[in-house]
Amino acid sequence: MLFRRYFSDLASLFFAQTCAGCDTPLVYGEELICTSCWYHLPHTQAHENVQNKGARQLWGRVPIEAVASYWYFRDASRVKRIIHHLKYRGRPEIGTAIGVRYGLVLADTPPFNCADIIVPVPLHPKKLRARGYNQSVFFAKGLARSMGLPIAENTIVRRRATESQTHKNRYERYENMLAAFEAKDAFTIAEKHVLLVDDVLTTGATLGACASALLENGATRLSAVTIAKTL
Ligand SMILES: [Zn+2]
Repeated sequence: MLFRRYFSDLASLFFAQTCAGCDTPLVYGEELICTSCWYHLPHTQAHENVQNKGARQLWGRVPIEAVASYWYFRDASRVKRIIHHLKYRGRPEIGTAIGVRYGLVLADTPPFNCADIIVPVPLHPKKLRARGYNQSVFFAKGLARSMGLPIAENTIVRRRATESQTHKNRYERYENMLAAFEAKDAFTIAEKHVLLVDDVLTTGATLGACASALLENGATRLSAVTIAKTL
């Protein structure tokens, strides 16, 4: 018994918790992500300019008022590593920590701070079972805490697993995605300004399709927030 305890103390010395972004050991007071990463990761500052590139990607498709992402996502970057931990290494609490931080910024930023309710982009039930959690829900929880907003988790559902998008052009991807979401609970979003939340913004097809489903079912205003956006 004593030996086991000694061993586990020793192990914690050698296997200290490391930062999900840069893998350096975390020091006292740090959790999940180190201070240097929080400070130096590439913030988009997109919330300061609602006519940003993320929003422009969606213009002409759906009337999303504003889109903001916390960080830029590059290959072989710390942000990519953090997203990988969040999605594939069973560490959803990272999403919440990011949400808490970004939520503090967005709580002071129109039109995000005029939102009534947060809707996380759903995973297909099969994927949800395999992963055990939806990373966007955890990000949403952090945002909700800092912005003082409720979350509506089962408002939209993913009707089918998304087909591989690799060999499709942009328009085909959008068409493919459009039928993938269905609003289940129109009452909760009726007349509401919905803040739609996802992990990574790439082509905007997912956000666009979710936004269409929400607007068709009674939401009156829509803004969107993601953890990262590809360049
Ligand atoms: Zn770090």
